[in-house]
Amino acid sequence: MRDVILPGSLNELWRCFEDKPQAAVYAGGTDLLVGVRHGLLNPEALICLDRIEELKGVGERGGSIRIGSCATHVQLLDDPLITSHLPVLWQAIRGIGSPLVRNMGTIGGNICTASPAGDTLPPLYALRAEVELGSKEGSRRMPIAEFIMRPGATRLQRAEILAGVWVKKPGEYNLHHFEKVGLRNALACSVVSMAALLRLAPDGAVEKASLAWGSAGPTIVTCPEAEEALIGKPLSTEPLQEAAALVRKAVSPISDVRADADYRRIVAGNLLLRLANVLK
Ligand SMILES: Cc1cc2nc3c(=O)[nH]c(=O)nc-3n(C[C@H](O)[C@H](O)[C@H](O)COP(=O)(O)OP(=O)(O)OC[C@H]3O[C@@H](n4cnc5c(N)ncnc54)[C@H](O)[C@@H]3O)c2cc1C
Repeated sequence: MRDVILPGSLNELWRCFEDKPQAAVYAGGTDLLVGVRHGLLNPEALICLDRIEELKGVGERGGSIRIGSCATHVQLLDDPLITSHLPVLWQAIRGIGSPLVRNMGTIGGNICTASPAGDTLPPLYALRAEVELGSKEGSRRMPIAEFIMRPGATRLQRAEILAGVWVKKPGEYNLHHFEKVGLRNALACSVVSMAALLRLAPDGAVEKASLAWGSAGPTIVTCPEAEEALIGKPLSTEPLQEAAALVRKAVSPISDVRADADYRRIVAGNLLLRLANVLK
């Protein structure tokens, strides 16, 4: 039998870490408990973060939005700050798993699992999000692209947690788009996904672009060359094809049970081509 500890505050959590230094934390448990059940993980105890109010909710400070790490996907789908300022993240969360998974799963769990197929990650990379890490010693912040090192590995230290995610309100973009290609429409891990933030001038020319791909490399892939190639051009076939060719060079996907690497490479470019349809 393994202990499950449910601290009710951050101060209680720091004490739990002192008592059980080898314990694993979880929020919704939709990733971690699957690993425990399959015998892939064998922590001495489990610490559940779900009762810690400081880790929940969405708030606004200055021009930034702070999302508590233990906010569930369903809570984020209903939150007015997310719907009005971060539609690209909303679109990604809407397609995660099933209603059951979205009720239990949290944004913090999705980030800390550090899977290149994690659906919140491409939007958070495109939004240049920062993570806020907390421990007994205090808190520190870093860009999400620095936090995630490789599949399943982050810069979290022992007895440190992800407390929240910070995103500057992306007012400079007037087009938010997320698309995931999976083997079916629901309960599907992404074969490839793409988040796109664009500012289009009144004549349709791209003035600014921020793009990120999921399941296209060991971590989320960005492609500044493709962003640059779109500047000053409309979202029409020729410029999109030129940028898509750059994306196919930048990605480094693997072959696995869901798709082979060549297919993923083609689809990563095709997702960009599909931006032409978004405006129709
Ligand atoms: C049937 C099914 C379908 C799924 N479909 C999708 C999908 O379509 N898209 C998708 O992206 N994911 C999917 N997932 C994966 C999972 O549901 C999500 O990644 C979810 O967001 C994980 O959140 P959680 O709170 O349940 O994480 P948990 O399982 O609680 O934790 C996951 C990992 O993060 C760590 N962790 C969690 N919170 C913190 C924190 N605050 N600080 C430090 N470490 C923390 C845990 O130690 C663990 O290593 C699916 C899972 C299942 C079971």
